[in-house]
Amino acid sequence: MTWTGRLLMTLLSLPTTCFSDRDPVDNHSSNPLTSQQLKSGEALLLSLPCPSDKCTVAFDGNDIAVHPHPKNPGQSLVVIATPLDTTVSAKRKLVTMTMPDGGNLPSIELETIEPDYPVEPLSVNPDLVTPPEHALERINKERTEIANALKAKNPHQPLTSGFIEPVPLRKVTSPFGIRRLYNEQLKGRHTGVDLRAAEGTPVQAPHDGKVKMAQSNWYTGGHIVLEHGWGVSSSYFHLSDIQVNVGDTVSQGQKIALTGASGRVTGPHLHWGIHVNGTPVNPLQFMADSTLLFSP
Ligand SMILES: [Zn+2]
Repeated sequence: MTWTGRLLMTLLSLPTTCFSDRDPVDNHSSNPLTSQQLKSGEALLLSLPCPSDKCTVAFDGNDIAVHPHPKNPGQSLVVIATPLDTTVSAKRKLVTMTMPDGGNLPSIELETIEPDYPVEPLSVNPDLVTPPEHALERINKERTEIANALKAKNPHQPLTSGFIEPVPLRKVTSPFGIRRLYNEQLKGRHTGVDLRAAEGTPVQAPHDGKVKMAQSNWYTGGHIVLEHGWGVSSSYFHLSDIQVNVGDTVSQGQKIALTGASGRVTGPHLHWGIHVNGTPVNPLQFMADSTLLFSP
């Protein structure tokens, strides 16, 4: 939804007690929302009108982590990610808040909409579309390792600032969410964003974090995963030089790698991914919303 759309929604909504930090209204607005839409593949940073140490929050019936709000002490913040899958996400789901005495605050309805993500045909080395027999064991092992790296080990660690871009955002060469057709075979969705970057461009950490993966993989080439807090991880593919090790702590802006063209690629670029509790979300949207959340 555009900001204009969100503003319109804000003006039309009935007065209640919740709002998202991405809405173009002040957090103390007298026009908060009772319901809102979000796109599949988006992360919602949702402010709630109860202190994090006092209320329990559930999304679609399942308890979710509740964090202290970074700016408003009497409030809490939850991060909700919707998957890139219409059949799963195109539903209305409720966020419910329960107080220690068992009382409920008014719930918030979230409706996920599926944008018309386009199809992108790509030509790559045939071995990378239908891998040779001898690579299958390696590919399966790496798939498990990547899934494990994306599992948040410290989901209650707070984020402390908005995210910054890992390389200068000169041009997006392939957007988030599109349907990828490799050599005319559909191979799923693009779970990150491709940024134009000449071979050897320095990559910087977008936020403080811990290194969860730093290795060379069959499909993704030189691959780093960082865990940052609130269940949020970031990923970097196709690197030519990895300059951190698993277990390292990194600071926002620290150089972690050089870009390259390793793995399943058509040329040098940086693939940047953001996952929230293992669900891929649009990195550019997350960067913009986290910056808004932490802005004075
Ligand atoms: Zn990519």
